[in-house]
Amino acid sequence: MPAKILCGKSIAASIQEEIRVETAGFTRQTGVVPVLAAVLVGDDPASQVYVRNKQRACQRVGIDSRLIRLPGSTGTAELLEVVHQLNADDQVSGILVQLPLPRGIDPLAVLDAIDPRKDIDGFHAENVGLMLQGRPRFLPCTPLGILQILHRSNLPVSGKQVCIIGRSDIVGKPLAAMLMQRSGPFGKPYANATVTVCHSQTDDLAGIAAGADLLVAAIGQPEFVTADMVRPGATVIDVGINRVGSKLVGDVDYAGVSQVAGAITPVPGGVGPLTVTMLLSNTLRAARNNAGI
Ligand code: NDP
Repeated sequence: MPAKILCGKSIAASIQEEIRVETAGFTRQTGVVPVLAAVLVGDDPASQVYVRNKQRACQRVGIDSRLIRLPGSTGTAELLEVVHQLNADDQVSGILVQLPLPRGIDPLAVLDAIDPRKDIDGFHAENVGLMLQGRPRFLPCTPLGILQILHRSNLPVSGKQVCIIGRSDIVGKPLAAMLMQRSGPFGKPYANATVTVCHSQTDDLAGIAAGADLLVAAIGQPEFVTADMVRPGATVIDVGINRVGSKLVGDVDYAGVSQVAGAITPVPGGVGPLTVTMLLSNTLRAARNNAGI
């Protein structure tokens, strides 16, 4: 039987409607409209699309967005100055600096400079530490979006074998940390997993993947995960976004794997819409925290 399609697009649409209602209530109560400030350095086409999508999503839910565009020649010191100004601006609820940054800018120095209370991407070292300790302030958007997909599709992970392929700071590592907690944003059923993280140096990656109840691919290699690497009935989450010719494909061979898996996210329309949506959720959270409610 072909896999159930986990439609991130429609899950994201219903969460955005919830955020819209919540934001309207927050604004009525406090007189404050949450503001997301996005900083875009250089002219990377993919980054421009991502930032535009984030701004449009803000508009849909009643969050104001500001875009600070800087030329590709911007240096670390100049960018830090912009971040400091946004930190000091009481109207700004959340700050995001679109990654990747041009060569020559130290991304960690920039992430460290963002006020952790405005760090809606959840990448600041203080927020990473709080997440690891199981008392998060902001959870990173893509892993949180993956948990939302599982939660809203009624696919609990407690006690399950999870294989995550990819160990980046923005997807693989934080997702592993979140899934292995004793509890999480959606309670114990969406935590307490047994997690294995694979990467480019892993021996027998295919064998490990094939033992997983939940397989997450976040590597940036088009259609890397094939049907023989998937346990029949497993849930497969495809984080990858790869442009092949004029087509967007994931890290999973969708045609083959969807014949074996129990449930699968498509690309596009899977994890991506949730990432944007969790950014909105974190921005509202930041505005609430700033307002003390
Ligand atoms: P990174 O490039 O930061 O990390 C890639 C990871 O995959 C690394 O850990 C790397 O291993 C591992 N890897 C690469 N090739 C292989 C291989 N052949 N076998 C095993 N492991 C491998 O990627 P990101 O986490 O930033 O992004 C991954 C993908 O997800 C990209 O396609 C990106 O566009 C997409 N993405 C999608 C988002 C969404 O919202 N849908 C959000 C963020 C990212 P090693 O550490 O050993 O080098």
